[in-house]
Amino acid sequence: MKTAYIKIDPAAPDEKALKEAAECIKHGGLVAFPTETVYGLGADTFNPDAVKKIYTAKGRPGDNPLISHIADMDSVLKLAQYVPEDAKNLMEEFWGGPLTIILKRRKEVPDIVSAGLDTVSVRMPSHSVANALIRIAGTPIAAPSANLSGSPSPTTFEHCKADMDGRVDMIIDGGDCSIGVESTVVDMTGDEPVILRPGAVTLEDIVRVCGKGMFGGEYADAPKCPGMKYTHYSPDAEVFAVNDMESFAADKKDGTAIIAYNNYAHIAKGNRFYSAGDTDTEYAARLFYLLRKADEEGIKTIYAQLPENKGMGTAIRNRLLKSAGGRII
Ligand code: AMP
Ligand code: MG
Repeated sequence: MKTAYIKIDPAAPDEKALKEAAECIKHGGLVAFPTETVYGLGADTFNPDAVKKIYTAKGRPGDNPLISHIADMDSVLKLAQYVPEDAKNLMEEFWGGPLTIILKRRKEVPDIVSAGLDTVSVRMPSHSVANALIRIAGTPIAAPSANLSGSPSPTTFEHCKADMDGRVDMIIDGGDCSIGVESTVVDMTGDEPVILRPGAVTLEDIVRVCGKGMFGGEYADAPKCPGMKYTHYSPDAEVFAVNDMESFAADKKDGTAIIAYNNYAHIAKGNRFYSAGDTDTEYAARLFYLLRKADEEGIKTIYAQLPENKGMGTAIRNRLLKSAGGRII
């Protein structure tokens, strides 16, 4: 397949140019596009044949459901049977933004979108290009991250292109993603909000709005977020998650890189140093980018600092521990 490319300025999205991408979605095509979290690989939620192509393009297992993206609050009812009060409050507080809400699914939503579950996951992004695309297409857009299944999610146009060139109809270049890790996924179908995937909207944020909330999914005994059981975010290089950077010492070796906060730059001792910035927010924005850059630069071993398990740090730890596949030092 020949992939078409368009460049859209997020500061002033050219609606005429986006119309072409929206037409592509409406006609059952696949369009990769930027969001504030990571690049997404989109198809019309209500076109099961188009959605099927997403799974093929990514090599994604069929039992891993997709998030549908909308551009206005009311569209949630095209997908969900109803919206509980707490879910409504979360939408008002965090949409558009990096929060995906799981609700009871309307029967009109194709099985393939929800991988056969009776729920549907919905998000309204804040990214101007994503929102304009969804609005012009006039349909919710089902979109997982636009990477090959198992590799780190793309946070730049170049990384999206590296995985999706030749596999999708069109890729929109809208620059870098500001948040850098995927949305928080919160299940609102039970008595209490349950976070199935940590992201930039934190447990503290959710408890502030709903008065309650907890982590579940992979943190609980029975995973409810089906995708969680698969290998994730793995670069070719071997990743080690480092708990205590203070007492860490890596031998100088070709092909080794250290990812850590700037105040640990001295620990690299002649190895490549990839800065995680100064804050968790900066680290999140760079993590996937750095994992891919390491592969581009022929790095074989990555030692990456685990941030503290709070706020955005929880989301970074979640992704990093998966990349490390259990290798913690
Ligand atoms: P991705 O689209 O790559 O960001 O992955 C979406 C994540 O949301 C996966 O981990 C899915 O398992 C999860 N997800 C999507 N829809 C549902 C749902 N209906 N129930 C539980 N988890 C879901
Ligand atoms: Mg993904």
